[in-house]
Formats: sequence, C-alpha cells, structure tokens
Amino acid sequence: MLAVLNSEAELAGVLGHEIAHVTQRHGARQMTKALGAQFLTLAAAAGGALAGGGAIAPAITLTQAVMSNVLSGHGRAFEFEADEKGLYYAWKAGYDPREASKFMRRLRQLERLRGIGYHGFGSTHPETTLRILKLEELAQVLARPGQKLAVKGDHYKAQLSGLVYGERKEGYRLKAHRARAGETLPDLAAKYLGNRNFSLELALLNDLDDRTVLKEGQRIKIVRKK
Ligand SMILES: [Zn+2]
Repeated sequence: MLAVLNSEAELAGVLGHEIAHVTQRHGARQMTKALGAQFLTLAAAAGGALAGGGAIAPAITLTQAVMSNVLSGHGRAFEFEADEKGLYYAWKAGYDPREASKFMRRLRQLERLRGIGYHGFGSTHPETTLRILKLEELAQVLARPGQKLAVKGDHYKAQLSGLVYGERKEGYRLKAHRARAGETLPDLAAKYLGNRNFSLELALLNDLDDRTVLKEGQRIKIVRKK
C-alpha cells in the first residue's frame, strides 16, 4: 500500500480510515451483530427441534452463511463511516483532505492492471466509485480557501527506495528517482525493467501521462528488478 501512495497527505487519509474503524468501535459492533445472529439461529434451531426436528440442519447452514458474511469485511456502512471520519482526522492533523481520493483512484487503476488490493476495496465494485465521490465532496467542504494544508509529496516519495513492490517473489523494488531534464517514462521503463511497455504502470503509480517529459529534479517513483 505504501508503494501506491504518493504523499503524506494520502497516507494520513489511509491511517485516518483505519483509526476510525477503532474509534467508531466497528469491531465490537460487528461482533455484537454476529453474536446476535448466532443466538437467533440457535433459538430457531431449538424451536425447530421442539416442533418435531428436521429444522436443525438448515438453521445451522444459515448461521454459517450469516457469520461468514458478517466477519468477511467491515460492511458497507462501516467503510463509508471510516472514510468520512478518517478524512476529518487527516484534515484535523493539518493535511490536505483533497489528496485521499487521488489515492483511491490510483489504487483502482492499479488493481485493474495488477491485482493490488486493499481491505474493503474492489476496483470493479460500484461502491468504490461512490466512496471516491463522497470523499471528494467532503474534501471540498473541509478545505477552506487560505488554509495552510500539508501534502508533502516529494518528502514522502524520497522514503520509498528499496520498498518491495507487488509480491515479494516477483522481485520488484521501488526507487525514488530524481528525473533529469527530458527523461521520459518509457526511457526509465527500458532502463530499469528492460521493457518500455512498463511505462503505463509507472505513469499510473505517479499520476502522470506516460508521454510526459520529465523536468529536472522531478521526484518520481520507479520500479526496478532487484
Ligand atoms: Zn475500512
């Protein structure tokens, strides 16, 4: 996940989201729901047994379905709540709230390209689009004109050299690259990955067009074989 992020402000959005799952007690509320479902089903099973048996097996199948559904993810309402609270926390900490949705868009594109996923997130799910739109809407409300808000993009990217990119067994690592004037992403893809076609992935990783001509000193993330 750190490899996909492009600034401290984006990281603040992700950490805010995770912290919000805790402060809103999503784990505990989920557990209560699961236990409630379990008791209901046991009661139904007991009722079925009293009424002459035969009903226990279907009731138990139902409880397993409910449990796995409840426990497999935080659920849509909790994800929306964590997005909203999390963005508020990032803004309160002084970060630009307009960055978080950029990360979500980038993640969606990279997930389509490479299958890099994240909890509660599905690139093909219509809900992901709705989450991005809601984040953008709230960010516009929070970020007032004249307010000093931190992004810290170059500072963040400079920390990433050596980070594993993708599955460890694939052997890719990130490198924080300082561009020379006139360099292009296909040049860098050829130099570090031996294949100009990787320029699309480099472009997505950095929110750039793959025909961009880089400026002297521009900080970008590149991927190289270990
Ligand atoms: Zn979440």
